[in-house]
Amino acid sequence: MRTESLYIDGEWVRPVGAGEFTSLDPASGEPIATLVDAGAAEVDAAVGAARAALDGWAKVPATEKATILWRIADLLEANQDELAALETRDQGQPLGIAKAVSVTGAIEHFRYFAGWTTKIDGAVRRVSFPETLQFDQRVPVGVCALIAPWNFPLMIMVWKLAPALACGNTVVLKPAEQTSLSAAYLVRLCEQAGVPKGVVNLITGGPEAGKALVRHPGVDKVSFTGSTAVGKDIVAASAHDLKRVTLELGGKTPTVIARDADIDAAVAGSVMGGLLNSGQVCAAYTRLYVDSSRVDEFATKLGKAVDALKLGPGLAEDTQMGPLVTAEHLAHVDRYVRGGVDAGAQLVAGGSRADGELAAGNFYRPTVFAGVADDMAIVREEIFGPVLTVLDYDDEDELLARVNDSPYGLGAAVWTNDVRTAYRLTEGIRAGAVFVNMPCIPDAVAPWGGFKSSGHGREMGPYAIEAYTEIKGVWMHYGQVGQ
Ligand code: NAD
Repeated sequence: MRTESLYIDGEWVRPVGAGEFTSLDPASGEPIATLVDAGAAEVDAAVGAARAALDGWAKVPATEKATILWRIADLLEANQDELAALETRDQGQPLGIAKAVSVTGAIEHFRYFAGWTTKIDGAVRRVSFPETLQFDQRVPVGVCALIAPWNFPLMIMVWKLAPALACGNTVVLKPAEQTSLSAAYLVRLCEQAGVPKGVVNLITGGPEAGKALVRHPGVDKVSFTGSTAVGKDIVAASAHDLKRVTLELGGKTPTVIARDADIDAAVAGSVMGGLLNSGQVCAAYTRLYVDSSRVDEFATKLGKAVDALKLGPGLAEDTQMGPLVTAEHLAHVDRYVRGGVDAGAQLVAGGSRADGELAAGNFYRPTVFAGVADDMAIVREEIFGPVLTVLDYDDEDELLARVNDSPYGLGAAVWTNDVRTAYRLTEGIRAGAVFVNMPCIPDAVAPWGGFKSSGHGREMGPYAIEAYTEIKGVWMHYGQVGQ
């Protein structure tokens, strides 16, 4: 069993009297680590350390910041097998996903933002005031609280950490209480890479630690990925001092499978897009709108494809779908499935937790519903588990109204071989990212974020540089004084 500490001002600390909590292996229910449940005093110390380190880090030359970020990427690469196994153990995702998506995504992000450090420029403006030089600069926002969820713990933390450091900010990391181990590992690599003390701090704990961070007057910005409900609390809590806030929240991604679509490709893409990480993906393809002439074929093939998935512990080589993150989350998913059955939806596949040798872990059979109505909770609400719903449509205009009738607007997908259908639908769908004939794949260079209740602002690409900098306009009058 591991024991993890907090990391404050360059020291690993286990404060006397602080509470503790345990992280469980989702595949077996066994305890795997004890962590510190940080309180207000620890949060205050971490924020104080980040504030004290801010001026120094902001002034580190851009090329030196780039070297350090690149070194973190190299260390992630050198330790990728151990780190991926740790992520799988703590979160449950299959090892292949932990390597190819989580760790690789983290490496790519550090390399991409290492390149940005030398390109965070301003511009010179031709103002009309005589004899005046005007230019603008991008400066760090300040101390950033980076709060992450449990579904892709390492990768999502890095989506925040890499650009925050590249822009000269200092940070306090707060991973999700269910999955904090990869964040502690990452902080050790930052230490080895030469990140100066106080620049990166780590707080572990649950919602109370998150709340203390968000309310702390020494925090300038909160970057949060998690549920829409908590996102709203964060906006409310940050209002008293108008902290900068970036929010990546929930989703209920619609997928349109047009009459001319390649159904086999749409089935394979929906399995991957809908059930990656056991459906614990914010942009999981969960509302599948299929042209009514193809819907039966699609639902039958989808049911067969999900039934064939091999469920098992993430560390087993042949596992295609791992457990859900916690027993509580499994109960939440199961409540939705029971609700769907009670509401009259037709179960095509799954519908219960796995039994036999998988009974000790949080394994849920991948589930497909057909014959669902737009107003059912399984269609409208984010389940964040392996539950797909198949709906049919006849008319494209009516379809767009149905697709957009959601509080969320994170992702969307379209399957068609007709470029006109692809363009009409991508133009009509209100979502932060629309994928045509492909599963949803974030990339460090492209914007990531949502419309409506899916969030505020964008991560990745140049948008992340905007999110972690303030713009300062500088005006210099060079005429004679009094003229
Ligand atoms: P959550 O909102 O319960 O928790 C997220 C983090 O916030 C955790 O670290 C938690 O401890 C902390 N927290 C909880 N209450 C808080 C509060 N009041 N103030 C400050 N911090 C608080 O989310 P979760 O269950 O860990 O993650 C699942 C959710 O995350 C889903 O809704 C999913 O769609 C969303 N998500 C979104 C994206 C995206 O990019 N848009 C990516 C991944 C996950």
